[in-house]
Amino acid sequence: MAAERPPQYIAIAFDNCTELERWQEWSDFAANMNRDGDRVHFTFFVSGVNFIADPNKAIYQPPHERRGYSRINFGGPLEDVRSRVIVMNELRQRGHDIASHAVGHFDGRHWSAADWKREFDAFDQAFSHAAANNGLPADAGFNFPLADIVGFRAPYLETSPGLYAVMNAGRFRYHTNGDAESDAWPVKENNLWRFSLANIRVAGMRRKTLSMDYNFLVAQSMGVDNPKHRDLFRQQMLDTYLDYFKGNYTGNRAPLHIGHHFTDYQRGAYREALKTFARAICALPEVRCVSYRALADILDKQNPETLAAWQKGDFPHAEMPKIDPGVLTSEAPVAAAAPKGR
Ligand SMILES: [Zn+2]
Repeated sequence: MAAERPPQYIAIAFDNCTELERWQEWSDFAANMNRDGDRVHFTFFVSGVNFIADPNKAIYQPPHERRGYSRINFGGPLEDVRSRVIVMNELRQRGHDIASHAVGHFDGRHWSAADWKREFDAFDQAFSHAAANNGLPADAGFNFPLADIVGFRAPYLETSPGLYAVMNAGRFRYHTNGDAESDAWPVKENNLWRFSLANIRVAGMRRKTLSMDYNFLVAQSMGVDNPKHRDLFRQQMLDTYLDYFKGNYTGNRAPLHIGHHFTDYQRGAYREALKTFARAICALPEVRCVSYRALADILDKQNPETLAAWQKGDFPHAEMPKIDPGVLTSEAPVAAAAPKGR
C-alpha cells in the first residue's frame, strides 16, 4: 500500500448568505456541535451586496449593468449590515471560512477578464470599506483582513476563461465552480484548488443531481416548494448524503462537497436534512468536517505521491462505521413549519 488512509474530509458550504436569522441559526448549530471539541467548520460564500446597505446601492457598479443594480437583494437597512458583519467576524474567529460569491449575483459566462476584475474589485471595496461605505463607526467593519478571503464560488456556477486568469493573478487559493463524479479527488490547476460539487444519485429516484440544495429542489419538485412531500424530500436528501458518505468513506475517501443556501427551500426540509447529516457524521471516527480553506491547507501539505495514492484509493479501505439510529431520527419534524417570506 502506497499511503496511509486519509481522513474522510467533508466540506459543507453556503451561498449568498443574506438572511440574518439563518446566519444565527448556523452559527448556533456549529457552536453547539463544537461545544466540547472541533467537529464542524463551514464555508460561507457571501455575495458582496450583503455589505452594502440599501440606501448605498449606488456605490456598486456591476459589469454591463446599471449602477446600483443587483440580481439579489442588497444588504437591507444599516443595522442589518452591521449585524451581518458581527456574526461573520465571530464565525471567522471560530475558524469558519468566509469566501466570495461575487457581488451582484450575475451570470458571468460571457464576461471578459476585465469584467471579472471589475466585479472582484467591487467585492474587495465593499468588504474593505464596509463601515465607511455605510456611514458606520470604524469598528463596525470586518476585523479580519481581505487577505483571508481566498475562495470563490461563481453565481449559478457560471464561469468564463477570464475568471481564472483573474483568480490566478490574485490572492485566491480555491474555487468551487465545477462538478465531478462523487469519488473525484480535488485537483490543483495553476494556483487554484478545484473543489467540485458531486453528481450523485438521489435516493429513491433514478435521476442524478448535484450535491446542492437548489438542485434537489429542481430534481424533486421542479424548482418549487411542495409542502405535501416535505418529509419525503427531507428523507431523500438525508439518504442521498448518507449514500454519498458511505461510498467515499469505504472507498477512496475523496472529500465530500455539500452546498446549501440560506433560502428556506421546501420550508426548511433541506436544512433539517443537512443538520441531521452533520450531527450523525461529523463526530464519527476518521471524519473531519472542515472548511474549504482548511482543506486547501491540508492538501497543500501533502506530497504528490501521497495525493496520487489517495486519488487511486491505494490504501487499506475502511468499513462503514456504526451510526446511532437515534441521531438519524431525532430531528424528524412533527409538523411542517409555517412558510417564511423569501
Ligand atoms: Zn448563488
